[in-house]
Amino acid sequence: MMCGNVDSKATPVISVIDGLTLCTDCIQYIDNARDHELAERGKEEKKSTATTLPPIPTPLEIKAYLDQYVIGQDEAKKYLSVAVYNHYKRIRQQQLAAENPVEKKVLKDAIADGDDMVDIEKSNIIMVGPTGTGKTLLAKTIAKLLDVPFAIVDATVLTEAGYVGEDIESLLTRLLQNCDYDVERAQKGIVFIDEIDKIARKSDNPSITRDVSGEGVQQGLLKLLEGSTVLVPPNGGRKHPEQKMIAVDTKNILFICGGAFDGIERKIASRLNTHVVGYGVNEEQKKEQRDNLMRYVLPQDLKSFGLIPEIIGRLPVLTSLDPLDRDALRRILTEPRNALVRQYRKLFEIDGVELEFTEDALDAIVDKAVEYKLGARGLRSIVETVMVDAMFEVPSLKVKTFKVDKAYVEDKLEKANFDKVRLAD
Ligand code: ADP
Repeated sequence: MMCGNVDSKATPVISVIDGLTLCTDCIQYIDNARDHELAERGKEEKKSTATTLPPIPTPLEIKAYLDQYVIGQDEAKKYLSVAVYNHYKRIRQQQLAAENPVEKKVLKDAIADGDDMVDIEKSNIIMVGPTGTGKTLLAKTIAKLLDVPFAIVDATVLTEAGYVGEDIESLLTRLLQNCDYDVERAQKGIVFIDEIDKIARKSDNPSITRDVSGEGVQQGLLKLLEGSTVLVPPNGGRKHPEQKMIAVDTKNILFICGGAFDGIERKIASRLNTHVVGYGVNEEQKKEQRDNLMRYVLPQDLKSFGLIPEIIGRLPVLTSLDPLDRDALRRILTEPRNALVRQYRKLFEIDGVELEFTEDALDAIVDKAVEYKLGARGLRSIVETVMVDAMFEVPSLKVKTFKVDKAYVEDKLEKANFDKVRLAD
């Protein structure tokens, strides 16, 4: 008997192997010992997951993920992937140093020895490109991949403290709201500041009369971009004395800025000593030149446009987005993971109806978007207009399939007076 109780008559005895028999007491003992062992092991595992952080996706993996949602924009994707990867490596380095005493010691020794301490600077990003080409979508997709809180804010609502508008710190209110005021999480989030070009200085002359939504806002923004602890009004808007503020450290918040920077191509052209063609070329050629010039954008062009050098210095990663051509628009309709066509198919599938868009129907939708220069954003309103009747009627029809062809698209757009509605916008 394993428990040593040779006289165990009341409890059934199991003979396991030669010479070893178990009574119920033995089994109970083994059970308890196993539970204890498992509990201890669980504690160990928990402890080790706290220090082994989840792996950071490599730039290639980040790009591959972006490819699933965003069409084209390879250059911007590459820059973003590298910047985000470096950003999280930098945070990781800080975390490890804080958690791991050995690393901490190494750091301390390095400081004592006067070694060159490599301080990896924050890699905030600025994306320049026409509206509706995927700037917000790129930032949003990155936040989804990294599973960090994300907020989109519009720079145009910001004004210097003391003027009508929102305080600059309210940029962070949205971020806090999006993670239920979990300050820890918010401090590692991503903020996308849209329309950054709208806070450019209106004139090259800095002594011009007060420019409340321009340079003053840029100065205020600087503090956030470079990393400091700021007091955020929990409900946004203006700060007022009785309000309880939330302290947020922006050191590890990644800021991604986007703007169309209309007219910047002229600054680029003059830097490159070329001319933006005027006479004797058609619209098509002019557009092509503009598009090509955008690819050469440099920090000094942002300065000529009216961003102050300190802001530009805090946005070290500069990249441009290409305008979407017809081919890109066509792909946007069907290829991304949550492409419009897929979304509608899913909606119909829930009603047990198989929805089909013919190739020429998709071409007709793209034609309209191109014709009215609506870009990718316009695709949605066109498809909505085309599909509204079908969405209304199909659930009560006893059909198993529904086909949208070119004639159907044109008919619906004509009946909805799409041209007039859009042109009136
Ligand atoms: P931006 O921030 O550049 O003004 P958005 O990213 O908000 O533009 O784009 C608007 C919408 O157009 C997106 O929600 C998306 O549906 C679509 N879109 C724009 N560009 C792309 C792209 N490159 N790939 C896929 N969809 C896109």
